[in-house]
Amino acid sequence: MTAICDYLIIGGGSAGAVVARRLAEKTQGRIILLEAGKPDEGDPAATDLTRLDEQTADYDWGFRASPLAGAPPLLKYARARLLGGCANHNDCAFIRPPDSDFDDWERLGATGWNAAAMAPYWQRILDTITIETAPCHEASRCFIDAGLEMGLQEVDFAKEVREGVGLFPLNARGRTRQSSSITYLHPLDQLPKHLEVWTGCMAARLILENGCAVGAETARGSIRAAKAVVLACGAIQTPQLMMVSGLGPAEHLTAHGIPVIADLPHIGQHLRDHVAAPVVWETHEPVSGWEICPFEATMMLQLDPQAPAPDILFHFGLRVREKYADRARLATSGPAVKASPNVTRAKSEGQIRLSGPAMADKPVIDLNYFSDPGDLDLLLRALRLTRKLGETTAMRKLCRTEIHPGPAVQTDDEWKDYILSVCETVYHPCSTAAIGKVVTPDLRVMGVDGLFIADASVFPSLITVNINAAVMMTAEKAADCILHS
Ligand SMILES: Cc1cc2nc3c(=O)[nH]c(=O)nc-3n(C[C@H](O)[C@H](O)[C@H](O)COP(=O)(O)OP(=O)(O)OC[C@H]3O[C@@H](n4cnc5c(N)ncnc54)[C@H](O)[C@@H]3O)c2cc1C
Repeated sequence: MTAICDYLIIGGGSAGAVVARRLAEKTQGRIILLEAGKPDEGDPAATDLTRLDEQTADYDWGFRASPLAGAPPLLKYARARLLGGCANHNDCAFIRPPDSDFDDWERLGATGWNAAAMAPYWQRILDTITIETAPCHEASRCFIDAGLEMGLQEVDFAKEVREGVGLFPLNARGRTRQSSSITYLHPLDQLPKHLEVWTGCMAARLILENGCAVGAETARGSIRAAKAVVLACGAIQTPQLMMVSGLGPAEHLTAHGIPVIADLPHIGQHLRDHVAAPVVWETHEPVSGWEICPFEATMMLQLDPQAPAPDILFHFGLRVREKYADRARLATSGPAVKASPNVTRAKSEGQIRLSGPAMADKPVIDLNYFSDPGDLDLLLRALRLTRKLGETTAMRKLCRTEIHPGPAVQTDDEWKDYILSVCETVYHPCSTAAIGKVVTPDLRVMGVDGLFIADASVFPSLITVNINAAVMMTAEKAADCILHS
């Protein structure tokens, strides 16, 4: 069976839901939004931020990543498999990137992506979703007070991104997530009739004819799109789908027996991610009873005074979770909290490669953290300061003792060994099909007609803050690019 539409959007996550809604507002032809996972509507595990722990394994693609060059793929790399994508899977920290990030994108070749040009897209998001902060748990207050004790100022990060300490703005209304599916698509039964959301349906391969993308193959048959195919599978699976379809580095595709349609060597390359490592403290009392989310408080540091914006961003966790699949690296015997700095504009580059020729073959995720040694130096400096945070009066009220890395770690080499053994992701992959390398500034895939990318893959570089707000801004702009094409 073949379905015919004007626009086919593949991936119903943060980006895909935005694009679908905006195209439906401005056009009348049939639009199909294809999502491999299940619907989120009516499922509290997906829509209620406080019930995240109820999400079972089938809400996730179950990927594993190699953190360091040559390391085994033991880092659990969460990627949502449901309508709404990772924004129904995440902690809802929602911060507009500072102007310098977008101005930097323009400098890297993304003409039309400077801060002034992006401002209207942020306004569209503000007009559509609600942003709140959580009621501050007393343990989060200790962390904020510790920052004040160290001389930082309390900052409202919903208003400005600068060095300081405060609460994360959340894309949440009370306990309800404000993911793009919830805010741009729900209620699904009241969507305009020309916008169809197909859940539980994975694109297995793009249909490419005469240098043009004309649709996709799925288990429910072919879908053909007369006007455009839009990729929004996220920074891991957008390049994977392109590669299994014959678009990518020729040698790699040939090694997997995939006929090469276009040799596009940058697809899957230049993977960027926010790399983090925590300090963990045992607390005097169990920490429980947070109202919305266990990551309420944050801190931004500008260690390099010449940097355009903070180069370190913290997640303060009211609980400690292991992110490795092999063994406990952050074992705790009692109640604990953690402060985890990450390198905001990390320069290390990894890659996404295929493990086999089908979408069902899990992609190889090589993060290649610290291939740029500057990232390791910054993280080391941030962790030394994090230890000092634990020595403040405010944190001593909360914490009994530092358990990771613990007092045995003192020298730079000891800190580096620790970082290399516990470094982890905060799940912000991007740049695997970047503007200027794979797509033009109006998000067309170079060398293939009718194919656009609308998700985090197109970021020219990593940004200063958690990336979901920037993904939604990118998708808002993508809708304009597609409409004006
Ligand atoms: C655990 C976790 C915590 C995070 N915390 C935060 C946070 O607090 N703040 C923040 O800003 N960011 C956070 N992020 C990151 C943020 O949520 C993502 O960067 C953002 O949602 C990515 O949007 P996207 O549209 O690029 O991809 P996604 O939202 O991942 O959407 C991709 C969608 O495509 C679907 N798909 C994939 N392949 C196919 C296919 N072949 N056919 C059909 N459908 C397909 C997937 O199922 C998915 O629904 C977090 C991410 C995770 C995983």
